[in-house]
Amino acid sequence: MIKGIFPIDKFETVETPFYYYDLGLLKQTLTTVNLLAGSFGYHVHYALKANANKRLLPLIAQAGLGADCVSGGEVNAAVEAGFSSEKIVFAGVGKADWEIKSGLDNHIFSFNVESIPELEVINQFATEKGVVASIALRINPNVDAHTHHYITTGLNENKFGFNMEDMEKVIRLLPTLNHVQLIGIHFHIGSQITDMVPFQNLCVRVNEIQDYFEAKGVRLDHINVGGGLGINYEHPNHIPLADFESYFNVFHKHLQLRPHQTLHFELGRAIVASCGSLITKTLYVKEGTTKQFVIVDAGMTDLIRPALYQAYHHIENISSEAPLKQYDVVGPICESSDTFGTDRMLNETKRGDYIALRSAGAYGEIMASQYNLRKLPGVYYSE
Ligand SMILES: *Cc1c(COP(=O)(O)O)cnc(C)c1O
Repeated sequence: MIKGIFPIDKFETVETPFYYYDLGLLKQTLTTVNLLAGSFGYHVHYALKANANKRLLPLIAQAGLGADCVSGGEVNAAVEAGFSSEKIVFAGVGKADWEIKSGLDNHIFSFNVESIPELEVINQFATEKGVVASIALRINPNVDAHTHHYITTGLNENKFGFNMEDMEKVIRLLPTLNHVQLIGIHFHIGSQITDMVPFQNLCVRVNEIQDYFEAKGVRLDHINVGGGLGINYEHPNHIPLADFESYFNVFHKHLQLRPHQTLHFELGRAIVASCGSLITKTLYVKEGTTKQFVIVDAGMTDLIRPALYQAYHHIENISSEAPLKQYDVVGPICESSDTFGTDRMLNETKRGDYIALRSAGAYGEIMASQYNLRKLPGVYYSE
């Protein structure tokens, strides 16, 4: 519970808004992940795109996790933060030349390749550098992360990954590319998934795809099932951790790994979302005719998730113990989507009160912008 624990008095002279990271909670999350994934021998790569904060990354690297990168900048940040390059995977439909070259120079564990032309370009640059690139094929499993039903293979065109119809061609091409080595297959079905059924469906699909490769005589040492495990945004105080136990158990129960195979995960949100809060100050309480607005000094430039996809963040007034009242909590940006929450119950709020937007550790700070020429939010830590 952040109320009562967040040391408001320590921050009285500090400019708002700012991100506040509970490093203790991050460490607790990492310990839990290591314990559960470790019990099955699974490998977890942290998806840097959720948060590449310079204090957080080394903690995650020190816990032994690998890194999942989607740009050359992320590969560099991962190396700098101390992630071992043998644990870096690199995905993305549009890897630029310098990004591929940087991945090769860093001898990363795997390029998660998404198209035939990319495969050819990686082979070309690896040939020029006299190295062999390890690659995994990103396959579009056609598993719907939201409705829990299969989408019929071949119906949907998606910019991500290969469709299974491309596989014949890829399998014929691979032996002609002497500087790439196929080490596995890669999947990623979506994000903020809290229902285990889509993951179970993914397992079923991966099992079928494994049978396909086996029948073709293609050996795969690594299966990477991506990320997407969600957290509970409604109850950050009671359910601070993602349900890692159910998650890993689903794969243990439903995925048929071959004895020589290693299973990999790419978790972003589930690792860092809970440990971050955006702390903002109330500028004005505006009385409307039917609504009351709490106008805070943070906006969509600091935390874009509510404006971008109507995401829910739990909101607390951490300065007040007064009775609850209903408010819309809005930012100062000249966009009506700059609203953090509507009809929220907060302790009666007045100018100057600190408001915490909870579970903002993932896709928060990293997506902050200077739109309206605003300052970027500050960053503080519990330690
Ligand atoms: C975004 C992404 C992830 C992480 O997703 P989360 O929902 O944050 O766990 C993992 N793998 C790939 C390829 C991604 O694009």
